[in-house]
Amino acid sequence: MAKITRKPLPKSRSAVPRRKKSAGKATKKETAKAAAEPGQAHPATKKTKPWTPAEVREAFSRFRKANPEPKGELEHLNPFTLLVAVVLSAQATDAGVNKATRALFAVADTPQKMLALGEETVRDYIKTIGLYRNKARNVIALSEKLIAEFGGEVPRSRAEIESLPGAGRKTANVVLNMAFGELTMAVDTHVFRVGNRTGLAPGKTPLEVELGLERAIPPEFMLHAHHWLILHGRYTCLARKPRCEVCLINDLCRWPEKAI
Ligand code: SF4
Repeated sequence: MAKITRKPLPKSRSAVPRRKKSAGKATKKETAKAAAEPGQAHPATKKTKPWTPAEVREAFSRFRKANPEPKGELEHLNPFTLLVAVVLSAQATDAGVNKATRALFAVADTPQKMLALGEETVRDYIKTIGLYRNKARNVIALSEKLIAEFGGEVPRSRAEIESLPGAGRKTANVVLNMAFGELTMAVDTHVFRVGNRTGLAPGKTPLEVELGLERAIPPEFMLHAHHWLILHGRYTCLARKPRCEVCLINDLCRWPEKAI
């Protein structure tokens, strides 16, 4: 009879957060990856001391002092073009989206004009963006729905925005915050990473991080908190090589591997 040999189980990524102390320290590569991707809460920050309200206030006071009026980097002309830009930005960079939408929005800045362009023409305008076929279909479908059900206006409730083709919770949060001034927290890859790494709002999913940030951040900072955290993640707390030495909150950050 052939001898049955069992291969050792592969070290799956989902095993990283469950690593026991006795199993040894995660490698730098593992922890950096775990701190960078949705679905992977940082194993160490989950156990670190939570931020005190005074520390959170201090961090956001510093962000505010450094950049009192932070702006998003997605170009748009009105709530409709913001909505379209956010839908197009899934798995694409803001710079890449802006390159395509400058010309598109010059000819179509309302649902009616977008619909009049038609799916094929929209596809041509956005063909430099990933998943452009699907996205063009969604842009036309959401324009149709806005006209048919919302009088051609972007609705102001989360449920209504989320009911539009191509729009999910993150899209709704960005639109509610940027177009209508609501105190929402959109969690993209940068906010997810910063929330986990710093220990400010550890979570395995974007929703966990979103709710954690909403609980932690005082209302007076919430209007701009989303942009401060995105910009912090994009330019300072970089995924591969965080610039801890120039980080405004490096004394408060709980990341065990911060380089200061
Ligand atoms: S100290 Fe480093 S890891 Fe912590 S928030 Fe700053 S850049 Fe990110």
